[in-house]
Amino acid sequence: MQYANPTVTQDEAPEPTNEAAAARPGHEPHAATSFDPSTLHAVDDTPIAEDERTTVFEIRGLTARYSGAPAIRDVTMDIHSGRVTAVIGPSGCGKSTFIRCLNRMNDLIPGFTTEGKILYHGQDLHASGVDPVAVRRRIGMVFQRPNPFPKSIYENVAFGPRVLGMRRDLDGRVEHALRRAALWDEVKKRLRSSALELSGGQQQRLCIARAIAVEPDVILLDEPASALDPIATASIEDLMHELKREYTFVIVTHNMQQAARVADRTAFFSLSGEEDGGRSGVLVEYDATEKIFTNPSDKRTEDYVTGRFG
Ligand code: ADP
Repeated sequence: MQYANPTVTQDEAPEPTNEAAAARPGHEPHAATSFDPSTLHAVDDTPIAEDERTTVFEIRGLTARYSGAPAIRDVTMDIHSGRVTAVIGPSGCGKSTFIRCLNRMNDLIPGFTTEGKILYHGQDLHASGVDPVAVRRRIGMVFQRPNPFPKSIYENVAFGPRVLGMRRDLDGRVEHALRRAALWDEVKKRLRSSALELSGGQQQRLCIARAIAVEPDVILLDEPASALDPIATASIEDLMHELKREYTFVIVTHNMQQAARVADRTAFFSLSGEEDGGRSGVLVEYDATEKIFTNPSDKRTEDYVTGRFG
């Protein structure tokens, strides 16, 4: 797989608020030299044996704070390629904070700090010289509310590749991304129409296509279906099944049925008391999804998944 150096241009740039933050206007041009593309896993349809999986993230003792107050405390876990990993837990336990740490999205928030380590394919995401813009290109993000730019369907998908200098066969790249996001057949005759004319479910698949268009390795999804109806939700879930051999998915969801449907592994976060009387999110249990939902090891997980808490 070839990676062009992302050269930021200022042409017709709407303010991206998501994965295309990989190309935020106003940032300096960056070379994506911090990561070795050869570390990306190969696309493969065969089942992955336990011992053949690639560890994408090694998270060690991660504490994240907003203006000094911890939102998550001492999280240690690994995330594997070719798998969907779900993060569940009660509101405010730091699920969103956690996945935003995985592509340094929270760096943009004043007063946000982290301790501990996140290794991405063995590289410390916070090491000096690691470019957060290049990180966000490799590790894309899709948000709760579909957030297409107020531009055409085509321009939404072409935006990221264009500002990253991936200009060769842009039409082909746009088509490929829309096909992978299971949207091509619905939009191929109206690529120049406004993205805002699409339904909510189509807009969310467009946001996934926008993430795919810059050839990411990981796609983070923060409650991607919570604003969608059940049919649109099912199509997003189907898409994750379809694409999980190619991309590593980490999904935050408050919907336990959804976690049970889409995730291979599930991390349960909960709130724990701090010495100063505050509360922060801790990782209680992380295991195969089936185990979390049918035979959890921790009483707090059991209480949560059986609806006694949260
Ligand atoms: P969840 O996704 O599980 O609902 P969040 O990660 O959104 O939890 O929030 C965890 C904690 O961090 C909460 O106490 C929340 O108020 C706080 N928090 C989240 N975002 C910010 C922010 N931008 N500034 C300050 N505090 C925040």
